[in-house]
Amino acid sequence: AAIDAPLLEVDGLRKEFGGVTAVDDASFAVEPGALTGLIGPNGAGKSTTFNCITGAHTPTDGTVRFDGQDITGLPPYEIAQRGLVRTFQIARELSEMTVLENVMLAPPGQVGESALRAVVPGLRGGVERDEREVVERAWETLDFFEIDHLAHENAGNLSGGQRKLLEMARVLMTDPEMVLLDEPLAGVNPTLEEKLLERIHDLREDGLTFLLVEHDMDVIMNHCEHIIVMHQGSVLAEGDAETIRSDERVLDAYLGG
Ligand code: ADP
Ligand code: MG
Repeated sequence: AAIDAPLLEVDGLRKEFGGVTAVDDASFAVEPGALTGLIGPNGAGKSTTFNCITGAHTPTDGTVRFDGQDITGLPPYEIAQRGLVRTFQIARELSEMTVLENVMLAPPGQVGESALRAVVPGLRGGVERDEREVVERAWETLDFFEIDHLAHENAGNLSGGQRKLLEMARVLMTDPEMVLLDEPLAGVNPTLEEKLLERIHDLREDGLTFLLVEHDMDVIMNHCEHIIVMHQGSVLAEGDAETIRSDERVLDAYLGG
């Protein structure tokens, strides 16, 4: 592929729910290695777009291409296996498990076979070596997010912010190429917010690509090199922070609701 080929291409995306058109002919591209922000007023279609990209929803029309391949309508686990993943809230069953166990059990459908073999006893031969690898990797990941001291704590006892770090840790265990984050900073205190953003930048320097939906406009403006603005299901504007700030249509969209 050409050096400048986008990693993710959304073309003419449309999603209808009964009579409601949540996404209406949205088109945009995400460059590899970039931290791209997706913003827009409530109801603009951001989450639905995420759900169409990751396979949770089947688009009514349009295409989603990842790494040059058409992934439109594929089931979520197949999309995740290709390296395109989103964070998931820690499910109730998992809140009874420790932080370490949560990281070792990466989200369903996203876990590699070697990891599965390690955590499901007796599933297949060669368990020992793989288990050691997974445990080692899990500790490294917890250390990276500075939640290793919480390894033996039940996930349900974590603060909102710690839980967001754990959600990121779980996604990282799957070796993603691109990560979609839907409001990762909601309910996170400023110290942990800083930590989470620093880790996102570290990972981006390692070559990971991020698409971030976030309400906090300062975070988007200060951290994203490219910003896509959605309004009423379509892309209203895109560009760098300065371009978006000075775009009157964007201001109107937010003021108009
Ligand atoms: P955002 O994430 O930008 O706030 P959403 O994608 O959640 O926007 O929603 C876009 C529009 O689609 C809203 O009008 C919302 O009410 C509608 N919508 C989203 N999901 C559904 C659904 N499952 N069924 C019906 N309408 C939906
Ligand atoms: Mg949303």
